[in-house]
Amino acid sequence: MAPEPVDDLNEKNPRPLDEDDIALLKTYGLGPYSASIKKAEKEIKEMAKKVNDLCGIKESDTGLAAPSQWDLVSDKQMMQEEQPLQVARCTKIISPNTDDAKYVINVKQIAKFVVGLGDRVSPTDIEEGMRVGVDRNKYQIQIPLPPKIDPSVTMMTVEEKPDVTYNDVGGCKEQIEKMREVVELPMLHPEKFVKLGIDPPKGVLCYGPPGTGKTLLARAVANRTDACFIRVIGSELVQKYVGEGARMVRELFQMARSKKACIVFFDEVDAIGGARFDDGVGGDNEVQRTMLEIVNQLDGFDARGNIKVLMATNRPDTLDPALLRPGRLDRKIEFSLPDLESRTQIFKIHTRTMNCERDIRFELLARLCPNSTGADIRSVCTEAGMFAIRARRKTVTEKDFLDAVNKVIKGYQKFSATPKYMVYN
Ligand code: ATP
Repeated sequence: MAPEPVDDLNEKNPRPLDEDDIALLKTYGLGPYSASIKKAEKEIKEMAKKVNDLCGIKESDTGLAAPSQWDLVSDKQMMQEEQPLQVARCTKIISPNTDDAKYVINVKQIAKFVVGLGDRVSPTDIEEGMRVGVDRNKYQIQIPLPPKIDPSVTMMTVEEKPDVTYNDVGGCKEQIEKMREVVELPMLHPEKFVKLGIDPPKGVLCYGPPGTGKTLLARAVANRTDACFIRVIGSELVQKYVGEGARMVRELFQMARSKKACIVFFDEVDAIGGARFDDGVGGDNEVQRTMLEIVNQLDGFDARGNIKVLMATNRPDTLDPALLRPGRLDRKIEFSLPDLESRTQIFKIHTRTMNCERDIRFELLARLCPNSTGADIRSVCTEAGMFAIRARRKTVTEKDFLDAVNKVIKGYQKFSATPKYMVYN
């Protein structure tokens, strides 16, 4: 029988070579070491593959050279030697679309210059009115810069998605449905609107007594969509100097327009959206100007792109009619007090994470809290937990809940603002 080839023999039997193997190898004129070397090479290859897998990033992913070829020292030196650029505004392009296009730039408090482009910028990147970075020697344009947006406006973007989902909103089925229709449908299926030839609704006004889940639902929407979410509290736009608030609104919408899809949520909009009146002193003029800028941006001279505007308020009657007319805020969603079923659901939502006794009759508890809002029910749950802690127990019993209902719903009735606000709806 012809002897098997050595490589196969070695691959199938990764055991150490014994005397028979060595004798076999000798018949092929190979020493015992060549087989061991092959084995070691194979092991090295496997190890390298494992290391690559663990590192996760392949060379082709980043376009970078292998880390062993990096020259960090000279890179650092190069960065240190690089001069900082100066910020300028490109005010005019002379003879655009030709090879020797020239750019008029305005460096603030220095002068105006006519300059060319640096090596690293393409002519298509530069537009009139844009902010650019120029070098300090020849004032050539080196990089295009994003528009100047007030940092306090940039900070309004909600970076981290809130952890609230539609499941955490008890009841409010109709409201969720309406909200999804206005916000999600045009973003996910724009073709449906194009086919029918209608413009999707632009904005939604949520109104209702305090604590009925307006902000909660907006947070759930933010969690659900991949769009950029900007949250503005009405009072943030009230500024010290004349025109500041309106400028912030403009920058806000400018920032929103630069995103692919964006939801702008104005919470407590009554702070700025009040109906116009003349108080004789002019103190409120500034607030009104801010509101008018919102109105202006809402029906927008420029197309607003994929921007949806949500607003929330407790006092819809105080808002300016101009803000509410169809075409600006097309939909108005009322958040009313939850009914029995919704209250039971809200109880279940808020006790989900609590360590409760089994078989608590949530429906009974819901029956005991008529006319209460979601926030009241949440307070009942927290208070029940407090009773359990006070009694040094680890689980919350039904009696705790009953005591809490007595304390919160009956005891705090004086503070309840709900009846007052119900008048407005
Ligand atoms: P305001 O008008 O005063 O801003 P709001 O309607 O925005 O009030 P939210 O902030 O949405 O009130 O609600 C307050 C809290 O009440 C929420 O954090 C939530 O825990 C609870 N809550 C209110 N409504 C619901 C609901 N439908 N389901 C579950 N929890 C609710």
